[in-house]
Amino acid sequence: MTGRTEQLAANLARVRARIAAGAAAAGRDPDQVTLVAVTKTYPASDVVRLARLGVTDIGENRDQEAAGKAAEVDRLGVAVRWHFVGRLQRNKARSVVRYAELVHSVDSARLAAALAAAAAADRDRPLAVLVQVSVDADPARGGVVPDQLAPVADAVAAEPALRLAGVMTVAPPAWEPAAAFGRLAELAERVRADHPSATAISAGMSGDLEAALACGATHVRIGSDLLGKRAPLG
Ligand SMILES: *Cc1c(COP(=O)(O)O)cnc(C)c1O
Repeated sequence: MTGRTEQLAANLARVRARIAAGAAAAGRDPDQVTLVAVTKTYPASDVVRLARLGVTDIGENRDQEAAGKAAEVDRLGVAVRWHFVGRLQRNKARSVVRYAELVHSVDSARLAAALAAAAAADRDRPLAVLVQVSVDADPARGGVVPDQLAPVADAVAAEPALRLAGVMTVAPPAWEPAAAFGRLAELAERVRADHPSATAISAGMSGDLEAALACGATHVRIGSDLLGKRAPLG
C-alpha cells in the first residue's frame, strides 16, 4: 500500500468503528447504514483508493468538480455510486443526472422538475432523490423550510423520471446535533406516511455521525475524518 492508501485505510477503520459503535448504541444494524465518502477537493485517485478499500458510495457537492472526477474514475474502469450532496442549480441538472445515483439536495419543486426533465432525456432508469430540509428554516445551508417539505416531496413523487427516496439535512451549527436530527426524524416519518418507500435519512457528517445514527440516519456523509482536513475553499 502507498502512504496515502495506508492513511485512508486507517481513517476508514476509525470511521467504520464509529459507525459500528453508534449503530450498536442505537440498537441498529451497521450494515443498514451507507457510508458516503465525501471526496470534494480530493482527486480521482483518492476515489479509486477508497473503492479498492471497499467504499463505493462517493459524495460530491459541486457539479463542476464532480463531473470531471466521475468521468476520470469511469475511464479508469472503477465503478462507484456517485451521490450529489451540495446545492444544485437548475442549469446543472443535465450534467448531474449523467453520473449521480442519488441526489441528496433537492430543495424546490422547480429543481425537481429540471432534474426530472434531464433524467427523462438522459437516463434509462429513474433518478433517486432526497428532499433536503432546513430544520431551522434558515435557507443558508440549502434545503426547504419544514412547511415546504410535503409539497416538494409530492412534486418529486409525481415525476415518473424521479424516485423519492427520503430526506436529508445538514445540522445548523447553532443547534445540538441531536435536536436537529430528532427534528429530521419526525419530518421523515411524516413524509413516509404519504410515501412509504421514502425510507432514506441522510444525516451526519464527520463531527456528528453518532447523533445522526441515534436518530435513524441511513446515510452518513463523511469528508474530513476520512480524507483529511480540506483547505478552505476560495
Ligand atoms: C462536505 C460535506 C459533508 C462532509 O463534511 P465533513 O464535515 O467533512 O465530514 C457532508 N455533507 C455535505 C452536504 C457536505 O458539503
